[in-house]
Amino acid sequence: MIDSVIEAKRKVKVLAGARAVGDAFLTVTVSTSRLDDWRVVAPTFLNSEFNRLTKETGVSKETKRLLQADVDHVLDLLKYDVTPGTEGLAVFADRQGGFFERIELPFRLMNRLMIEPSPYVRPVVHAIALLEPFVLAQVSRDESSLYLVDVWGASQEDELTGPWLRSSDRETGEMSVKRYYAAARQDALVDLHFKEVGASLGNLIETSGVRRVALCAQHDIASGFRRSLPAGVAAKIVAEIPFDAAATTGQMVVNVRQAVEKARQEELAGLADRIKEGLGKGGRGIAGFDDVLGAVARHQVQILLVDRNYRVPGWRCLDCTWAGLTAAERCPACGGKTAPVSDVVGEIVRLAVLLNGQVEVGEDIPTLDELGGVAGMLRYG
Ligand SMILES: [Zn+2]
Repeated sequence: MIDSVIEAKRKVKVLAGARAVGDAFLTVTVSTSRLDDWRVVAPTFLNSEFNRLTKETGVSKETKRLLQADVDHVLDLLKYDVTPGTEGLAVFADRQGGFFERIELPFRLMNRLMIEPSPYVRPVVHAIALLEPFVLAQVSRDESSLYLVDVWGASQEDELTGPWLRSSDRETGEMSVKRYYAAARQDALVDLHFKEVGASLGNLIETSGVRRVALCAQHDIASGFRRSLPAGVAAKIVAEIPFDAAATTGQMVVNVRQAVEKARQEELAGLADRIKEGLGKGGRGIAGFDDVLGAVARHQVQILLVDRNYRVPGWRCLDCTWAGLTAAERCPACGGKTAPVSDVVGEIVRLAVLLNGQVEVGEDIPTLDELGGVAGMLRYG
């Protein structure tokens, strides 16, 4: 079954805290998009990667046997049990610890096989950040609709008719009341409608937990509607597209997705700027691998901002939260045993997820490059 973003988040949280009994957790991610020839490519890739990695890392015969059984399980999954419409499959397994978890996403994942002490959750965390649902509010003077938009489409949550339309009996064509309202009280009635839509929007934000709202309306209506909203609700509006009476809901959703993605990019660029301004003593900004890792481990980071393409090999401690870019036989923090990891930035992401930090994934943000590809906004200065 394709996982909802909420379900994927829940699974990732559990995975972030999982640890292989024999320090050999199998993580497999594969694209199952119809754009890729994955039924042929994926099994060949997984088998050859498995042979290469087990040879390189020199795992024991017994560990290799257990890992092989997990790989076979994944190959069976690929053969018989991938949900149509899935674009990416992630599997996390540790036979010794009795752990097996799969996440199916409508998002392409890179083909990858890893054997490391902890599950490699970063690709799924990235997907979740990019798939985040939002609310689309289509607003007019008297008829408005609220939609919850996720990666699969838009579902109408609320349809609101204002008092102006309600007051006219359209079936019997009795227009006098409507004309009266139109002339005398239209503005007040529009205001009333906006208030109703605003209250309904506030409820939807609260029950769904979404963080972003996009508005589809004629510009003057959008301005009036925004003014009528409580500040907390108005602040959630990140994008606005013009209302086009000729457009279908499907077209409107395509346009609004683009607008929200653009707003997300700008939001992250702004976040990077604020982090940069907040660097230094007393500020809320933190940057660079070692400082960010330290702050995440101390539970001080509210939002972790990481460059999607910043992946470097490194080392991690098996006993504490230490990780580093350079090789260390023993952990410099606790003296514990260390192990190599193929993406040490992924360790920061895993730790942030485990400690309930918000993880944002940016791409092509010049300020984030300046900050070393990984940065954080602290909870307090
Ligand atoms: Zn340590």
